[in-house]
Amino acid sequence: RILELHAALLAAREQLREQATRDALTGLWNRAAVLEALRRELVRSQREHVPMCVVMADLDHFKQINDTRGHLAGDAVLREVGRRMQHAIRSYDSVARYGGEEFLCVVPRCDLRQGVQIAERIRAAVAEQPFDTGCGSAALTMSLGVAEALNMGEIDEQAIVRAADEALYRAKQSGRNRVEAASTCEAVA
Ligand code: GH3
Ligand code: MG
Ligand code: MG
Repeated sequence: RILELHAALLAAREQLREQATRDALTGLWNRAAVLEALRRELVRSQREHVPMCVVMADLDHFKQINDTRGHLAGDAVLREVGRRMQHAIRSYDSVARYGGEEFLCVVPRCDLRQGVQIAERIRAAVAEQPFDTGCGSAALTMSLGVAEALNMGEIDEQAIVRAADEALYRAKQSGRNRVEAASTCEAVA
């Protein structure tokens, strides 16, 4: 009886942990979980002197999908974007829904050139096939910014996210459906 209760307790605890770390819509990691993974990987990257990257991604003109086909269609697209991104990264990379239609990937053991390649793979996976919205199909694109951590000084996960975000902003400015790399990013406070 006690063993049964113990097993039920463990299962409940595991379920709670899962709920606290996952995004309910896409099943990807949520913002808190990916920032924790990022911090862990920055520490490791610094200790082992191997590069790592962060990719910030944002769907282009996504508001139009909601406006023309409804919010449920938008949700269906976000789920499929999550699946395509998951498929495009390596098994030891992490992908999260960072906010509404914004995604963050943590890419360990990866320099800026490889980071750009992964981001390019994600960009192509979104652009090359239209999305089934449950309300007709829709073509969509994504803009992405990549930043590499330079393993210097104090660990600051916000600094590398900021650098990736600035590169993403440039990708938007220069026409969308493209990848931009941050020139350098120092993960220092
Ligand atoms: P840009 O190319 O500049 O990124 O344009 P955009 O339309 O993608 O950007 P904007 O920030 O204006 O709009 C984002 C939209 O994403 C607005 C909001 O309604 C939608 N959105 C955010 N979260 C969700 C969600 O969970 N489900 C759905 N269906 N829509 C969402
Ligand atoms: Mg957008
Ligand atoms: Mg956005």
